[in-house]
This record gives sequence, structure tokens and C-alpha cells, in this order.
Amino acid sequence: MTNSSLCFENSATVFINSLCQQKQLSGVKIYNLSVGEPKLAVHQILISSAIEAMQQAKTFYPPVAGYPELRSIATEWINSRYGCNFTSKNCLVVNGGKFGIYLLLQNLLRKGDEVLILSPYWVSYPAITKLFGGIPIIVETNENENWKVNPAVLAQACTAKAKVLILNNGNNPTSTLYSKTELKNILMIAKKHNLTVLSDEVYSGLTYDSQEYVSCGSFLEYQNNVIVIQSCSKNFSMTGWRIGFVFANETMIKQLSALVSQSTSGVTTISQSVAVAAFKHADEINGWVRNAMQKRRDITLALLNRHFDVQFKPPLSSLYFFIALKDLGVEIKSRHFCSMALEEANVALVPGDAFGKDHYIRLSFGTVEQDLEQGITALVKHLNTHGRV
Ligand code: PLP
Repeated sequence: MTNSSLCFENSATVFINSLCQQKQLSGVKIYNLSVGEPKLAVHQILISSAIEAMQQAKTFYPPVAGYPELRSIATEWINSRYGCNFTSKNCLVVNGGKFGIYLLLQNLLRKGDEVLILSPYWVSYPAITKLFGGIPIIVETNENENWKVNPAVLAQACTAKAKVLILNNGNNPTSTLYSKTELKNILMIAKKHNLTVLSDEVYSGLTYDSQEYVSCGSFLEYQNNVIVIQSCSKNFSMTGWRIGFVFANETMIKQLSALVSQSTSGVTTISQSVAVAAFKHADEINGWVRNAMQKRRDITLALLNRHFDVQFKPPLSSLYFFIALKDLGVEIKSRHFCSMALEEANVALVPGDAFGKDHYIRLSFGTVEQDLEQGITALVKHLNTHGRV
């Protein structure tokens, strides 16, 4: 593993971000459709609970595994909402879901272990895998199959060295949502090959059109093979508070706690108190975020369908349209398209090659409605003026 290989994993997003920053510094308004977060005002419940936590002097070192109250209420939430069967000893509070994934791969991987990653993938999976000596095995999916993994293709990728399967249901970047039967088939294959399934469920509360979300943690017969990653970031619009969770067996939680004790010493106390309040009002806050995101998705869908010749499918979950450039009438590399969109139309998008799929772009509908409308209009105007091919 070299540093350059890690940089390479991140380069497309870093590239777009730095171009964005340069333009903003020179006073240009950027329509940022690249952000992976639901941009909403801070919910009043979160503000009040943060102030209260400070007034109550919740400002000293926390228990390493998290406040017992938070572990307990997060566990009640996942059990009651998704039919899981965890106890609070199965729950570790971490600094965002990403750090949960980091700790898990740090703990699970030995040099040369293979990690099965479905492509298109969230950028951090291969990078963190390599960081801990693992070998990312990329399992391709395709748009014609709604970006869902073909069980036969998955089974074929399970070699003797394969140790972990990372599954991101409620997907970034494709917004794919798996059904109960599809998940069961995947878990069966994983168990047969003795894989640990790291189920990244951070978008579980962002499903649209009343679609059901099924947690891999709800299959009690596969409980020993599954570790669930959860987070307050997307479900409660709390990205900056950095609160995530690992749900796993008690032994694993103890091992990860030891890693936390030698690294971050636990999660910021104010954030933990705010997260407790968020879970006390989980349906209200998540419903507010979900409804706002469904509205933004619909606005984006209507704009895309109006301006382009194809009928786009509504994403059923998360925050993203993953769009083939050919559907926009363009046949260039995704990175080239994104730098052109930013430089010439002031629209920030993420190139598909960041997710392992060139000739696609990721458009986030998490941002404010005005930016979505003006950004897409600016992009269309640019394409119409300069030709689409
Ligand atoms: N997993 C996926 C698929 C994501 O898209 C993200 C954030 O963008 C995360 C995990 C990490 O979220 P956080 O660390 O904010 O909980």
C-alpha cells in the first residue's frame, strides 16, 4: 500500500472540491449539487438540547463506548423501527458512521484479506480497506439491473481469502434500495462463504414513496455474520455533529471500544446529548428531513425530465441521481464533464469515476431548492449553448 494509491481513491472528489473553493473565494456563486448531506436549518430540538447539555456541564470525558442513555435509546430505535434484536451492549457510539467503518476494518482485516465491494461504491470503502492492508475486490453491478448485485456474480467473487462484504443499502451513489428477499439471498451467500457483512445503513431513514427499509440486522438467523453501521448524519440532518453507531456482537464492541480508547477517547459529549434528544423525537425529525428530501427529489426529477430526452427514474432512497452522461446527450469522461460544468456553468457535481464508474455523474438533491432549480437550469443552458456531444 502506498500513499499515492490512497490519494488516487479520493482524487475526483478532492479535485471538484478544490475547484469549487477556488471559485467561491473569488466571489462566484456555485450551485453545489455535489454535497452528500440534507441541507436544512438546524432543528429547534437540536439547538435546545445542545444549550441544555452545556448548561448541565456535559463537557467532560464521556464513557469510551458512549453515554449509556444514548446507547440504549439508539438500540431501542433500531429494534423498534427495523425489527432488530440488539441490546445496548451491542451498540458503540462513534464519531460518525465513517469512523465506525474505519474501526471495523482496522479490527477485522489482516494483510491480504479480501473485501468484497459492490460497484459503484462509496469512495471510502476501497480507500479504508487498503489502509488496513486489505484487498478491495470490486463486484460490478449495472444500471439495467437497477445497480443490484447479481447473486451468481457475488458468489463467484467469494474466494477463500474473502473476509468481508460491504453492503450499502440505501446506496450512495446509486440510491438503490434492496428488498427483503434480495437481502436474504445476499446474506445466505455471505454465510455460506463465512463472510462478515458490514451493512452500511446510514440512509435507512431516507426512503421515498413509502418504500420499506429492511435492515440486515433484522435477519436474526444471520445475526452473527452481520454488523450494522448507523448514523444520525443523514436521517436527522446532523452531519456536522459526527454521531454514528456500530451494532455488532459484544466481543466486537469491546474490541472496537479498546481502539476508541486509544484514539479519540469517545465522542463529543454535546453531540451525544443532542443525539439522545434526536432519538426521543426520531419520527418527527426524520419525517421532517425525509419529506423535505422527497420534495427536492421530485423537483429535481421534474426538471431533468423536462429538459432531457429520457425519462429518469425517481431514486427510491438516499440523496442521489446517478446519471449516465449519454442520457444528458454527452459523450465525454465524467471528470471532464464535471470540471466543465463547474468552470463554465458554476455547477458542482461528482464524477462517476470517484465511485468506480466513469461516464456517469452523481447529482445530489440534498441542497436547497433554489440551488437545485438554478443549478440544473444553468447546466441545461450551458449544454444547449455549447452543444451536447
Ligand atoms: N456511508 C455512506 C454510504 C455515506 O454516504 C456516508 C457519508 O456520506 C457515510 C457512510 C458516513 O456518514 P457519517 O460519517 O457522516 O455518519
